[in-house]
Amino acid sequence: MKIMLVEDNEAIIMGLEYLLSQEGYQVVTARNIAEAGAVLAGEECALVLLDIGLPDGDGFELCRKIKRQGQTPVIFLTAKEEETDVVKGLDMGADDYIIKPFRNRELISRIRGVLRRSGKGNPTLRCKDVSLNTETGRVTRCGEEIPLTKLEYRILSAMMSCPGKLFTRDEILSDIWDISGNFVNDNTLSVTIKRLREKLGDNECRFIKTVRGMGYRVEQ
Ligand code: CA
Repeated sequence: MKIMLVEDNEAIIMGLEYLLSQEGYQVVTARNIAEAGAVLAGEECALVLLDIGLPDGDGFELCRKIKRQGQTPVIFLTAKEEETDVVKGLDMGADDYIIKPFRNRELISRIRGVLRRSGKGNPTLRCKDVSLNTETGRVTRCGEEIPLTKLEYRILSAMMSCPGKLFTRDEILSDIWDISGNFVNDNTLSVTIKRLREKLGDNECRFIKTVRGMGYRVEQ
């Protein structure tokens, strides 16, 4: 997945190119508005990280242009911390506004959030040593493929999409379970989770945690 970075500070460019590539993103860097325009004309970017103070203009103008042309998500990444700038950026359709200096993990998390909301999320969900690819439907643990039933897969992918979130038993039964024509009760759910844990080698319930009397959650 390709991210365009529009930034004129070399130190930030170096840091972000490293950080983003470590996270599996491809980075195209534009150092001014003209370069950014050229990139956008020729390449499909999943997201634009946009500085405001640029040598040949301001990022607001570029954001406006991007938003007029399509749905590409834009995150402002800028030292401009005035509330009026934040409001201006968000009002013109930016998907997020992050003030420098930023924290790396937070930036990555916000990028993921914006991509998820725009339907461009990374197809690979990863929690601990388990990976799930939502495009291929493959689930692996430590690189080894784990065959799951359709139902086990649906439960696991829902939980891995929101690591740390509590999924109540009711929620799983009503939202995830295909109840059409099948009689499903609480016990069936417990049995399914138990089988899923066995397949994942999660015998000590460290991956899928039980929240007593409530439901389950996957640990990040
Ligand atoms: Ca700048």
